[in-house]
Amino acid sequence: MYILQIATELAPVAKVGGLGDVLYGLSKELVKKGHEVDILLPKYDVIDYKMLRDLKIELRDIPCKVAGKIVHNTLWSCELDNLRLLLLESHHPDKYFEREKIYGCADDPERFTYFSKAALEMLAKWSSVPDIVHIHDWPTALIAPLYKESFADRVKVGGIVLTIHNLEYQGKCAPEQIEKLGLSPDNPHLEDPYLAETINLLRGGIEYADAVTTVSPTYEQEILTEHEGMGLDLVLQAHRQKFYGILNGIDEDYWNPETDPFLAKRFKTRGAFSLEEVHKAKKENRKQIALHFNLKEEEVPLVASITRLVPQKGPELLLHGLQRTLERGGQFVLLGSNHQMPIEDLFLEWNGQNGRVGISIARDEALSHLLFAAADMLLIPSRFEPCGLTQLIALRYGTVPLARRTGGLADTIFDVDTADVPPQKRNGFTFDHFDQEGANWALERALTYWQNDRAKWDELMLNGMRMDFSWKEPSEKHLELYRKLLLKRARAA
Ligand code: ADP
Repeated sequence: MYILQIATELAPVAKVGGLGDVLYGLSKELVKKGHEVDILLPKYDVIDYKMLRDLKIELRDIPCKVAGKIVHNTLWSCELDNLRLLLLESHHPDKYFEREKIYGCADDPERFTYFSKAALEMLAKWSSVPDIVHIHDWPTALIAPLYKESFADRVKVGGIVLTIHNLEYQGKCAPEQIEKLGLSPDNPHLEDPYLAETINLLRGGIEYADAVTTVSPTYEQEILTEHEGMGLDLVLQAHRQKFYGILNGIDEDYWNPETDPFLAKRFKTRGAFSLEEVHKAKKENRKQIALHFNLKEEEVPLVASITRLVPQKGPELLLHGLQRTLERGGQFVLLGSNHQMPIEDLFLEWNGQNGRVGISIARDEALSHLLFAAADMLLIPSRFEPCGLTQLIALRYGTVPLARRTGGLADTIFDVDTADVPPQKRNGFTFDHFDQEGANWALERALTYWQNDRAKWDELMLNGMRMDFSWKEPSEKHLELYRKLLLKRARAA
């Protein structure tokens, strides 16, 4: 099967959050299984070009009409591990993808709707026709309506799949944005359900895609409700029959403590390994973290958080967790990507406190790996969480997750004290209510177990390290869905 992924992030060369990891891990697994996969991205200036091989031009002069004017684009190809990347360079005078960042520009809807149309123009000139075009989140959602309204007679793909990685971001924009690209703005399927005179790009993707997926079964159920549906619950309900929840995985080669180049000391967590060696290695990694953050070297639990600092991730509960950890004699390290939230300063005030707190407001891939390996616990008090990857990475690195039971966290983290799953599946501490008492419920028990019952702690670590959250099974589920669409298309022909 030939699958074309069209997206706006890819780990590790152009990563903002989990979307980049998913593109990388899922695509690699599909290639391993013998499928042909291309990943099409904007040719950003911020891509880490050192990691790419064989960068060369594939197509020149791909025309894309915007507001009556033709803009030219160049298509590049290159390799990353076993993946082939296609990079679309826009020659638009506004230099859409030379902004030193991936998202966060005032004209983001303009940049990405342009990319969506240029991607289809590229496809119309491309030598192969994809069986499946897989698009991701609002930035590429417009591809589904654009394809069906304007391109279907020029290119015939087998099916379009849209994955919602996070329903919070919907790409709301002015009608002119799509009118410029030749789409009628008077289309009820593209309108925001609540805001007048507003286009909702994600809604357009949901309405027009042949299938819509989201990244965990629990999140799938949650966003069908008014409470969690962020204004699109009724749209999703109307398309229930083509809506699926498929749990994400992690790339187990990239996130492998046995080979991870960013660790001070590597360790095995699969096959034959000794827990003693894991503890020893985690101690060595912890020394590096202590050096980096100027922390005391002491035998106390290290609680970590590795997150984008946005309201979704519960920064107020992280701050509370930090304070409570200190009161209980532990250490706390936050690696938080800065999203200009005022709360950032509240964290920084604690930096260095008694040699027990480390705060880094940055996106730092290398440091994140070291911290996953060094910590005892990872605190994830999300308000909502479509899937969440940090808990899966933590498990692999022998770090016990403390997580709120929501979305994908509820599908992957099972409380040490629950009777709902067999003892060997229990791998962390969970809480239900998004408040300080809730967070305390998980944190207090975790700290007590760590301090008083190391045998139990070891059991939890082992359970987590043994679990398979690789892409093997989720990629199979994607393939099942792709095949279903192709069969439907063949029957309709
Ligand atoms: P989201 O996609 O909502 O940010 P996920 O848990 O799905 O959350 O994925 C987050 C990914 O981004 C993980 O790979 C995590 O390690 C990484 N990450 C988050 N914050 C940082 C940071 N400050 N520095 C480095 N990596 C980070």
